[in-house]
Amino acid sequence: MNTNLSVVDYPAKVTANPLTDQVKAVPQLAWKNWGNTVSCLPDYSFFPTSGKDLAEIVQLARQTRRKLRVVAQGHSWSALVPTNDILVYIKDLDKVEMDVTDPSNPLVVVESGATIKQVNDVLEGHEYALPFNVVLESVRFGGLIATGSHGSGWENDTLSDLVNWIEIVDAQGEIRRFEEGVTSEEVMNAARLHLGMFGITWRMGLKVKKSWRVKTVDERRDFDEVMQNMKEIVLGNESVDLFWWPFCEQMWVKRWNKTEASITAKPRKSWWEYASSWVTAHIGNAVWRLSGHIPPLTPFLSRLCFAFTPSRSKKVVDIVEAIHYRRCIEVNKCGCVEIAFKIDPDFANVKQAILWVKEKAEAYAQEGKFPFNVTMNLRFVANSTCWLSPAYGEGHTCYIEILSHTRQDRWEAFSAEVAQEWLKLKGAKPHWAKEFQHIPGVIDHIKEGYGNNIARFNAIKKDLGMDPEGMFMNPFLQEVF
Ligand SMILES: Cc1cc2nc3c(=O)[nH]c(=O)nc-3n(C[C@H](O)[C@H](O)[C@H](O)COP(=O)(O)OP(=O)(O)OC[C@H]3O[C@@H](n4cnc5c(N)ncnc54)[C@H](O)[C@@H]3O)c2cc1C
Repeated sequence: MNTNLSVVDYPAKVTANPLTDQVKAVPQLAWKNWGNTVSCLPDYSFFPTSGKDLAEIVQLARQTRRKLRVVAQGHSWSALVPTNDILVYIKDLDKVEMDVTDPSNPLVVVESGATIKQVNDVLEGHEYALPFNVVLESVRFGGLIATGSHGSGWENDTLSDLVNWIEIVDAQGEIRRFEEGVTSEEVMNAARLHLGMFGITWRMGLKVKKSWRVKTVDERRDFDEVMQNMKEIVLGNESVDLFWWPFCEQMWVKRWNKTEASITAKPRKSWWEYASSWVTAHIGNAVWRLSGHIPPLTPFLSRLCFAFTPSRSKKVVDIVEAIHYRRCIEVNKCGCVEIAFKIDPDFANVKQAILWVKEKAEAYAQEGKFPFNVTMNLRFVANSTCWLSPAYGEGHTCYIEILSHTRQDRWEAFSAEVAQEWLKLKGAKPHWAKEFQHIPGVIDHIKEGYGNNIARFNAIKKDLGMDPEGMFMNPFLQEVF
């Protein structure tokens, strides 16, 4: 139980319910997300500490005819979380342990409120690793899996695809288990990425590997040269991240590959490393804020920021360090629009997607407008088998995103225009967790883009009886599904 939130007060109707002796609630606790894009004032907020608590909260919601949504770390930008009825904070469900009973299928067993850092600590202690992940370590697995979040790597799929088994509390308050090899693949691929619509994920077993070392190379390379050699760069490495800071002539090319060589970097998680990242992140924040106050300074400040990125180095590190190479990125509150699309054999559509951003940023600049001031990032991954994944379907996927400091003037117009171009690309769909609701026509685009997969997901949900009355829906999900 969060000790800062000790107010516990139930309406008469609910107090009469014996369940309330066990699960405490806070009435009218305002919530807003990290990016300040969505908020809500739920009737009741719950702070469960066990799977049994989850079942009781769901039964309570059913008896009082309330809708229910879950929040993990609240780092998603889209309106997935908001509800005015019951909000369940899962941060205290954070047990993590290794399961190596089947040595050929090692798993990490994670309660859905565990952060990436908590999971990495256990994995590192046992010399295991998740093969890929998002960059920051503060977000929680309930959110990562529910939204199909991704990392980097040509042969890597998404975090949801790593789910070997998952336990979800359905609308009857029953804990339902879905497991690879036991449950059909059709159903597994719905349960692995359900956006919270199957119910409350209690815990899951994720596939992990023995940890390994990689050689990471960070280079600043000429923009045109990267564009020309894009295919060779991406296919010639296990993992590639591309960054472009607006108005710069170079790109940051980050790549890593497996090696047997010894570690050359400083120890992971040293205090010095953390402190310097914290200071740098705050300086970056101040610079981006300045560009918000004096927009014409944006090109100069962007080049300055790029000069201070860690975009020049070669080192050998554990895979976990390569994945989480940036600390304290949460300091820089920003807007973020991200789209996934299927990569053309010659990468022509990837290059086009980059050029649209560059050209649009320049066109806006000519009119004295600078809505885009942080970075554009591209990552290249394999496909996902989850019905609701933006990376679903044949072929490799490019995730492209633009980020700008929060409340940068005209960000919404700029990012919507860019996204409208991106959405014309093959199989293009927005990342569920990012900003997209401001893009004109996006809901129709999502419905069309997923087409039969939405119907299939809904049919599976119905057949399983996960949520016959729509308890786990909110207005946004209702509109799409
Ligand atoms: C700085 C930053 C960097 C990021 N980097 C990446 C990246 O590299 N790659 C990437 O793919 N994404 C990235 N993201 C997006 C991020 O991975 C997602 O927003 C993720 O969902 C965040 O997890 P969270 O704990 O904040 O989840 P929340 O935002 O709290 O929740 C997300 C969704 O999951 C649902 N949910 C959460 N827990 C449960 C549960 N137990 N049961 C049922 N439903 C649940 C919620 O209802 C909501 O619908 C980044 C976000 C930020 C802010």
